[in-house]
Amino acid sequence: MTVHFPFQNSYSALPDSFFARVAPTPVAAPRLIKLNRPLALQLGLDPDVLETPEGAEILAGKTVPAGADPIAMAYAGHQFGQFVPQLGDGRAVLLGEVIDKDGIRRDIQLKGSGPTPFSRRGDGRAALGPVLREYIVSEATFALGIPTTRSLAAVVTGEHVIRETALPGAVLTRVASSHIRVGTFQFFAVRRDTDAIRRLADHVIARHYPELLGAERPYHALLGGVVARQADLVARWLLVGFIHGVMNTDNSSISGETIDYGPCAFMDAYNPAQVFSSIDEMGRYAYANQPRIALWNLTRLAECLLPLFSDDQEKAVAEAQDILGTFSETFSDAYQAGLRKKVGLFTERDGDDALTQDLLDAMAKNQADFTLTFRKLGDAAGDPAADYARAQFMDPAAFDEWARRWHERTALEPQSAAERQAAMHAVNPIFIPRNHRIEAVIQAAVNDNNYAPFEELVKVLAKPFDDQPDYAAYADPPLPDQRVLQTFCGT
Ligand code: AMP
Ligand code: MG
Repeated sequence: MTVHFPFQNSYSALPDSFFARVAPTPVAAPRLIKLNRPLALQLGLDPDVLETPEGAEILAGKTVPAGADPIAMAYAGHQFGQFVPQLGDGRAVLLGEVIDKDGIRRDIQLKGSGPTPFSRRGDGRAALGPVLREYIVSEATFALGIPTTRSLAAVVTGEHVIRETALPGAVLTRVASSHIRVGTFQFFAVRRDTDAIRRLADHVIARHYPELLGAERPYHALLGGVVARQADLVARWLLVGFIHGVMNTDNSSISGETIDYGPCAFMDAYNPAQVFSSIDEMGRYAYANQPRIALWNLTRLAECLLPLFSDDQEKAVAEAQDILGTFSETFSDAYQAGLRKKVGLFTERDGDDALTQDLLDAMAKNQADFTLTFRKLGDAAGDPAADYARAQFMDPAAFDEWARRWHERTALEPQSAAERQAAMHAVNPIFIPRNHRIEAVIQAAVNDNNYAPFEELVKVLAKPFDDQPDYAAYADPPLPDQRVLQTFCGT
């Protein structure tokens, strides 16, 4: 049996300046630790064959499959506000693209597969911990219905990578609708290569925004499209308590997917100022700053597109500003609509925004668990005598006062308690990838070569909206001594 990837590559047919051709570096002793079988099928790959030793060699970058055209993509980026004119895939190789069962083109990329011309001082490798973390969180994000890159496989390489200590090396196979970033446009903008910007924009429109193909001003429409998708994405993050952690422009996807899971985290207690990332000392990428940062990143994208808008610089800037001006309303509409759904409202009335904001304020003041408060509120909707959500508040009276207003408001709608509860449970997950669980899974894998906790966590998180009574403990917030205060990139 040979592994067949039905590659149909398009990015590697773009001009040479877009990438460097580079094969993954062979590793000593690849061993498959996880294959995402449903995703393999979705991509038209045979999971049984991928699980053979030959499959593991491909997923570790030891063998290049037929039809692959391995490249490292070029990009630039603002990292914590500082512009770096050349970043690029320093530890990742795009094997190629396949068309999935829904007709969508998907990149298949190996992350941690060895050095490339963009590695700078890095070793091109990834450690097992961050690979497991990205696998868990990206698949959980997918199950939550949020646009994201996905994880097809994780392999250990049989080699060590040197970080602060020697750690087991691993490779993640990442799947994305593309790996084109705001930073990809910046790479060409800083080189004043307007032809390349146009080529890239045309590629992006055909690939991600085909509905804009006939638009009168396609590049303006493209900016508008990316603004809309990013605004919607960030609203969805906030609605599940997600903190990306490193929203640099090189980690900001043009297709509107969540990409580059590093020191990301889901918050436990609600705190708008929450930061976990060890490298985010100024709180630039704090939970509540994410909409502002997304707009900042989109403004950098707009700057790259100006030469395509008009030869008249002033006119181009004014047009870009108009388009960027749509971000705020798109974001608030998505965020407020999401909040209304979270508290079980079927309609929109004056005062709803204040009602949801007052709940959030009370949650912040009372260190209420973000996920459990909304989930238990759904339980309370089905059983008005229940006071479950109340227990999340340090001062339960703060909840009682709010709940009175909430009951008054929901009484204005005809839906039954059961209908309301079902609607709330469909948007308020019970299971999120909690930091302390991820840490425990990583420790078991790295220290004890025990992947059973990883498997179980991945399984529970695949159905985040279902009560799974056998796994109820996975819904629990950390005990004080289990609390994770910082997350690390691990690069
Ligand atoms: P990140 O913080 O993971 O988004 O990475 C920022 C930049 O550093 C990208 O250009 C990466 O390809 C590069 N990079 C991160 N880790 C490594 C590594 N171990 N070896 C080489 N390049 C790396
Ligand atoms: Mg990155």
